[in-house]
Amino acid sequence: MSRSVLVTGGGSGIGRALARAFADAGDSVTITGRHPESLAQTDGGRGMACRMADVTDEAQVAALFDSPFDVVIANAGGGGAGKLRSVTLAEWNATLAVNLTGTFLTFREALREMEPGGRLIAMASIASLKGGATIPAYAAAKHGVLGLVRSIALEVAKKGITCNAVCPGFVDTPLAAQAVASVKGRFGMTEDEALAQVVADNPMQRLIAPGEVVAAAVFLASPAASMVNGHALSVSGGEI
Ligand code: NAD
Repeated sequence: MSRSVLVTGGGSGIGRALARAFADAGDSVTITGRHPESLAQTDGGRGMACRMADVTDEAQVAALFDSPFDVVIANAGGGGAGKLRSVTLAEWNATLAVNLTGTFLTFREALREMEPGGRLIAMASIASLKGGATIPAYAAAKHGVLGLVRSIALEVAKKGITCNAVCPGFVDTPLAAQAVASVKGRFGMTEDEALAQVVADNPMQRLIAPGEVVAAAVFLASPAASMVNGHALSVSGGEI
């Protein structure tokens, strides 16, 4: 049965892979983001609805829900690296805004008219489950996302809706490429050395493929996951 699926931050990386997977499976997919060209590239002729929205903007998020969705994936997110003392208030606020407030606004609006069987999925992170010395704002925001997910899960349980989080380690996307470039620059390493450093904590010692994250979200969105609620599904090769 075809479902209506919303993916925020659908113009690149994991969001793009998610949107294409659901569309290729026959679902009716809406992607949102801030750059129309990137959204069109994600669509690539699949017939997705492309809508502009900054997930930190309450009115823009509300406007996405003129009709309800069956599956809503709060995927937009990101953040820079740096030790606590170097984090400016503006960087802190921006990181919380996109990762945590964006997920709050997306799920709050999604729930207004979501039918039983509906699925809320947050693209969280292993940084929802453990801290990191150079990602204090990002880890704080992603820990917050998990608190939000677990709370919503309890609220919606009796309605037959579920709310879960996917918690990937480093995935092979532009965001991971940024991390490799930053390690390279900071420590004067080669590309290979910087990559090895980035994946050092992953027992499988490699970046995670976007498809491996998509598979977790597809499962959580499926009827097979009807009793999985408030869960943080780690996709990290055993890091968590
Ligand atoms: P990405 O940078 O490729 O994608 C993030 C997307 O979110 C981009 O399309 C960006 O334009 C969009 N976005 C950012 N701010 C936005 C805003 N205010 N409004 C609307 N859209 C906005 O990175 P990605 O790796 O695909 O990340 C997707 C999600 O997965 C993020 O939440 C990220 O924190 C999470 N994640 C990524 C990794 C990783 O290693 N790549 C690991 C764990 C979790």
